[in-house]
Amino acid sequence: MPTVKIVPHKKLWPYLGYCHKNGTIEISDALDSDEQNFVLDHELYHLDDKSKWWVWREIKANAYAAKREPVGFLKVVWRTINDYKRIIKYLSEKGQGR
Ligand SMILES: [Zn+2]
Repeated sequence: MPTVKIVPHKKLWPYLGYCHKNGTIEISDALDSDEQNFVLDHELYHLDDKSKWWVWREIKANAYAAKREPVGFLKVVWRTINDYKRIIKYLSEKGQGR
Protein backbone atom coordinates (compact mmCIF):
# COMPACT_ATOMS: atom_id res chain seq x y z
CA MET A 1 0.00 0.00 0.00
CA PRO A 2 1.22 3.50 -0.75
CA THR A 3 2.03 5.94 2.04
CA VAL A 4 -0.41 8.86 2.12
CA LYS A 5 0.67 12.17 3.66
CA ILE A 6 -1.38 15.31 4.18
CA VAL A 7 1.04 18.17 3.51
CA PRO A 8 0.86 22.01 3.61
CA HIS A 9 -0.97 23.47 0.61
CA LYS A 10 1.96 25.80 -0.16
CA LYS A 11 4.37 22.89 -0.38
CA LEU A 12 2.33 21.15 -3.10
CA TRP A 13 1.07 24.18 -5.02
CA PRO A 14 0.22 24.23 -7.93
CA TYR A 15 -0.70 20.59 -7.31
CA LEU A 16 -3.49 19.43 -5.00
CA GLY A 17 -2.00 15.96 -4.82
CA TYR A 18 1.20 14.33 -5.97
CA CYS A 19 2.20 10.71 -6.50
CA HIS A 20 5.93 10.16 -6.07
CA LYS A 21 7.75 7.37 -7.91
CA ASN A 22 8.39 5.57 -4.59
CA GLY A 23 4.62 5.27 -4.08
CA THR A 24 4.25 8.08 -1.55
CA ILE A 25 1.13 10.16 -2.19
CA GLU A 26 0.94 13.71 -0.87
CA ILE A 27 -2.38 15.55 -0.56
CA SER A 28 -2.96 19.24 0.21
CA ASP A 29 -4.17 20.13 3.68
CA ALA A 30 -6.39 22.86 2.17
CA LEU A 31 -8.84 20.26 0.83
CA ASP A 32 -11.93 19.05 2.65
CA SER A 33 -12.55 15.32 3.04
CA ASP A 34 -14.58 15.02 -0.21
CA GLU A 35 -11.79 16.68 -2.16
CA GLN A 36 -9.09 14.64 -0.40
CA ASN A 37 -10.92 11.40 -1.28
CA PHE A 38 -11.18 12.49 -4.91
CA VAL A 39 -7.49 13.46 -5.09
CA LEU A 40 -6.45 10.22 -3.37
CA ASP A 41 -8.37 8.11 -5.92
CA HIS A 42 -6.86 10.24 -8.71
CA GLU A 43 -3.31 9.68 -7.43
CA LEU A 44 -3.90 5.97 -6.78
CA TYR A 45 -4.96 5.61 -10.41
CA HIS A 46 -1.65 7.17 -11.52
CA LEU A 47 0.29 4.50 -9.57
CA ASP A 48 -0.75 1.70 -11.94
CA ASP A 49 -1.22 3.71 -15.13
CA LYS A 50 1.33 2.91 -17.83
CA SER A 51 0.28 5.66 -20.26
CA LYS A 52 3.02 8.11 -21.21
CA TRP A 53 1.20 11.24 -22.44
CA TRP A 54 0.41 13.37 -19.39
CA VAL A 55 -2.85 14.78 -20.83
CA TRP A 56 -4.27 11.31 -21.35
CA ARG A 57 -3.01 10.24 -17.89
CA GLU A 58 -4.85 13.16 -16.27
CA ILE A 59 -8.06 12.59 -18.22
CA LYS A 60 -8.14 8.93 -17.20
CA ALA A 61 -7.26 9.60 -13.54
CA ASN A 62 -9.93 12.33 -13.31
CA ALA A 63 -12.59 10.16 -14.97
CA TYR A 64 -11.80 7.25 -12.64
CA ALA A 65 -11.83 9.38 -9.49
CA ALA A 66 -14.89 11.44 -10.54
CA LYS A 67 -16.93 8.25 -10.89
CA ARG A 68 -15.98 7.20 -7.34
CA GLU A 69 -16.02 10.65 -5.70
CA PRO A 70 -18.39 12.89 -7.72
CA VAL A 71 -18.85 15.45 -4.93
CA GLY A 72 -15.10 15.77 -4.41
CA PHE A 73 -14.63 16.08 -8.16
CA LEU A 74 -17.13 18.96 -8.43
CA LYS A 75 -15.56 20.73 -5.45
CA VAL A 76 -12.10 20.44 -7.03
CA VAL A 77 -13.48 21.79 -10.32
CA TRP A 78 -15.02 24.72 -8.43
CA ARG A 79 -11.75 25.31 -6.53
CA THR A 80 -9.84 25.29 -9.83
CA ILE A 81 -12.21 27.79 -11.50
CA ASN A 82 -11.66 30.11 -8.54
CA ASP A 83 -7.86 29.84 -8.60
CA TYR A 84 -6.91 30.28 -12.23
CA LYS A 85 -3.30 31.15 -11.27
CA ARG A 86 -2.89 27.63 -9.96
CA ILE A 87 -4.08 26.06 -13.21
CA ILE A 88 -1.82 28.31 -15.32
CA LYS A 89 1.19 27.32 -13.21
CA TYR A 90 0.10 23.68 -13.26
CA LEU A 91 -0.21 23.62 -17.05
CA SER A 92 3.14 25.31 -17.56
CA GLU A 93 4.87 22.77 -15.27
CA LYS A 94 3.15 19.84 -16.96
CA GLY A 95 4.05 21.25 -20.37
CA GLN A 96 7.69 21.24 -19.33
CA GLY A 97 7.44 17.59 -18.34
CA ARG A 98 7.52 18.02 -14.55
ZN1 LIG B 1 -2.90 13.63 -11.93
